[in-house]
Amino acid sequence: MRVDVLTLFPGIFSGPLDHSILLKAREAGLLTIAVHDLREFAEGKHRVTDEPPLGGGGGMVMKPEPIFAGVEALRERFGPGKAVLLSPQGETLTSSLARRLAPEEHLILICGRYEGVDQRVADHLADLEVSIGDYVLTGGELPALVLIDAVARFLPGVLGDPMASTRDSFEEGLLEAPQYTRPRLFRGHAVPEVLLSGDHAAVEEWRREEALRRTRERRPDLVTRISHKGS
Ligand code: SAM
Repeated sequence: MRVDVLTLFPGIFSGPLDHSILLKAREAGLLTIAVHDLREFAEGKHRVTDEPPLGGGGGMVMKPEPIFAGVEALRERFGPGKAVLLSPQGETLTSSLARRLAPEEHLILICGRYEGVDQRVADHLADLEVSIGDYVLTGGELPALVLIDAVARFLPGVLGDPMASTRDSFEEGLLEAPQYTRPRLFRGHAVPEVLLSGDHAAVEEWRREEALRRTRERRPDLVTRISHKGS
């Protein structure tokens, strides 16, 4: 998968993409990420990318021209790409949305700043608006990184164990069961006996029950969703 990011703050991206699984995925050629400064696509001596909102109101709004120019230039150079505008007003990022985006060959992520982005970007350029949750951040860079990380986990070959993501929380509509490692007794707290039994069927059964129990306790909304799907 190729991911191009359009941002006014490219420096934010160095660091998170340069470690661990995302770094390995990039090195293995499974994921190519290129971060572009939106100012490069702005015209005029001052390369202006934002202006006060029409109709008044505080702050600045990102202009459409550099964003359209950026997306069009990237599509011309690297072929058709799904343009995703990061926005608190978009579809909420879930595991299933990340999985849906994983087969895309090319994503172009548009990071807003200030009071947001001229509406024509959402209406006439972006294929999708994505929110990472019901809160407002100062910019779309962290949401873009979250999106990249969530999608990358579903790219074939990115996780060492191909089954790992299928056991994670949300995959079967449930939270994952608790995990333990050695020592079997730590500060008086023992690990559940069944995990030491060597009985794989019993361990699976215990995990399923624990996943259900903790989902009911912590996220009853997820359990309701599963039962509606089943009916
Ligand atoms: N005025 C906008 C509103 O109320 O909907 C919020 C603008 S926000 C301060 C600036 C930029 O940060 C947005 O254009 C978007 O790119 C990004 N952003 C902020 N919160 C976000 C979220 N929860 N999910 C995705 N992007 C977000």
